[in-house]
Amino acid sequence: MTEFELIQRYFAQAAAAQPHGADVSLGIGDDCALITPPMGQQLAISTDTLVSGRHFPVDTDAFSIGWKAVAVNLSDLAAMGATPHSVLLALTLPDADAAFLAELSRGIFAQCQQHGVRLIGGDTTRGPCLSLTLTVLGWLPTGSAVCRHGAQVDDLIVVTGTLGDAAYALRHPHSPLQHRLDRPEPRSTLGPRLRGVASAMLDVSDGLAQDLGHILRASALGAALIAEQLPLHPIVAALPLAERLSLALTGGDDYELCLTVAPHRLAELHAVADASQTPITVIGQMTAQRGLSVLHHGQPVDMTLTGFLHFDR
Ligand code: ADP
Ligand code: MG
Repeated sequence: MTEFELIQRYFAQAAAAQPHGADVSLGIGDDCALITPPMGQQLAISTDTLVSGRHFPVDTDAFSIGWKAVAVNLSDLAAMGATPHSVLLALTLPDADAAFLAELSRGIFAQCQQHGVRLIGGDTTRGPCLSLTLTVLGWLPTGSAVCRHGAQVDDLIVVTGTLGDAAYALRHPHSPLQHRLDRPEPRSTLGPRLRGVASAMLDVSDGLAQDLGHILRASALGAALIAEQLPLHPIVAALPLAERLSLALTGGDDYELCLTVAPHRLAELHAVADASQTPITVIGQMTAQRGLSVLHHGQPVDMTLTGFLHFDR
């Protein structure tokens, strides 16, 4: 199979069959794709690489690899409040295994279809190890992006879904939470609805404590979290305290949203979360006092017990 045949068979044909608006005037096949930006919108653009053995276990099935590569990138768009539009795929393959490529392509297009995004281009090369670099494009009304620096003192800290599931799955192969590691679901429906509601936002990819730390630094504030309010899957909730806190605070790969909201806008937040059928939980509050504190039934939690040592106070 030549590179050209490979691109045609596994990417170009399926991409051509994807629905798209008139704003994509040229997709796969030329040197560049051509998109007409909507009036009054800003382009939100982000890229993330997934390397085999580093960002997913080497034995992950091909469908899940494709799915996850798209999902983690769409999660970045959701975290800015952007509406996803299209993706580009730079693929490095050790060999051109037809069965693997067919499943990889199915996973990529399944996730694209679920979120209404179109594959508009990419690059394909041979290399020593499987790696996928996705670039996602989305739109935002100019000036409406939800950034990390907007949190205010006393804003409530809110997360979607449950925390620590993917890290649990990584430590316990073939558990009922395996799908949370392999097939993350980016919060693309809720994200755009949080423009003008959330004061700051990001997606939780490296663990809550570390990611929330980015909001704290960017907003020059601190935070107090209430450990017993952290939303946990029943399997994680049944673990001993130190273990479940470790998973919830330091476990990566959940791709949930963490956002801050002014207390008087909480009802509005619940309304948009309900409208997009996304569970949300208030887990703490922003503080003028810098640093992250975690309270369990009013007592400070020693963060070193959770395996979290690197927080920059
Ligand atoms: P060039 O040499 O001009 O970079 P390529 O042969 O790399 O062209 O790619 C041909 C076309 O196929 C381009 O439109 C490119 O965007 C697209 N393409 C290449 N690889 C992929 C891929 N893995 N997924 C989607 N589109 C791809
Ligand atoms: Mg190329």
